[in-house]
Amino acid sequence: MAIGGHQLVVPPSIGIAVYPADGQDVESLLQASDMAMYRAKNAGGNTFRFHKAEMQQRVSRVLQLENALHGALRNNELLLHFQPQLQLSSNAVVGCEALIRWQHPDMGLLSPAEFIPIAEESRLILPIGDWVLQAAASQCKAWQQAGLPPIVMAVNVSALQFNQPDFAQRVDRVLQSTGLDARWLEIELTESVMAEDPERVIGTLQQLHGLGVRLSIDDFGTGYSSLAYLKRFSIHKLKIDQSFVRDLMTGTHSASIAEAIILMSRSLGLTTIAEGIETEEQAQWLTSRGCDEGQGYLYSRPMPAAQFQQWFHTKNNAE
Ligand code: C2E
Ligand code: MG
Ligand code: MG
Repeated sequence: MAIGGHQLVVPPSIGIAVYPADGQDVESLLQASDMAMYRAKNAGGNTFRFHKAEMQQRVSRVLQLENALHGALRNNELLLHFQPQLQLSSNAVVGCEALIRWQHPDMGLLSPAEFIPIAEESRLILPIGDWVLQAAASQCKAWQQAGLPPIVMAVNVSALQFNQPDFAQRVDRVLQSTGLDARWLEIELTESVMAEDPERVIGTLQQLHGLGVRLSIDDFGTGYSSLAYLKRFSIHKLKIDQSFVRDLMTGTHSASIAEAIILMSRSLGLTTIAEGIETEEQAQWLTSRGCDEGQGYLYSRPMPAAQFQQWFHTKNNAE
């Protein structure tokens, strides 16, 4: 469309329902096509999707999960697993990432990929996020008190949670109540956070920085970052997305992208960590290119607190 001398491009998202398989009347056909349209949007838009019967099942699964999620906090069904983060040059454990799980009485252990999007949509991510921060910080403090060498605890924070006006105060309260020194807490943000109102984002990041908390950008390279902002944002670390690590050896552009991130990061004085390292070959490649830290199944899968402690202990004794 040409409007006021500007060329505006409107990418369509189209959902298709077919009579009679997808519905016998106008209402059910519209409903079916509407669901298909949201699938087209979720796939990035500017595309089309057909209605399928599995979609119906997925919608009822989402509704079921959303209802159950309300009870998850109340009934203590949420828990954290921890995945070690190693310094690549020495193989020393320098931190861990807290990853949420949901132990549902009937549905079993649910992965965050399944319920975090639902928690975000229903804004339940706010109380859940508060719980994660509190639980991760107190676990970190507990390990220190148990005599483990102190390590950084990285916590994932979603954009909705981060954009609460009092987010930094919430973090501060968690630090106060757990007695954890701020330098052991790292907040993982995604690039989508930076797309919001930049002045407000900078304000919150500066408050967090002022507390002494570390900040990292998760899944770096998959979203839209303003490179110019990285320094201004007081970011400490970039996490190279696991998709690049996975394809390092397959002759795609991933190796070039990973290398560029490491170089840029280094010249900005930032730390890099690669996530999703599964093979020795990937670890060696990353180490030789100057990537600082790594995390992935090669070292360990995420594990419950007690198992993490045991793993850490055994590893320290072996060295
Ligand atoms: P993420 O923060 O990028 O976490 C990394 C994910 O990669 C984790 O999946 C981890 O188990 C997995 N992973 C680690 N090493 C490897 C590997 O070598 N190979 C492969 N294939 N995967 C590996 P997980 O635990 O299922 O978490 C998925 C996502 O859910 C996280 O991605 C994060 O975005 C979100 N999430 C997890 N916990 C929280 C939370 O407490 N709050 C929020 N807001 N989001 C969370
Ligand atoms: Mg993360
Ligand atoms: Mg990630």
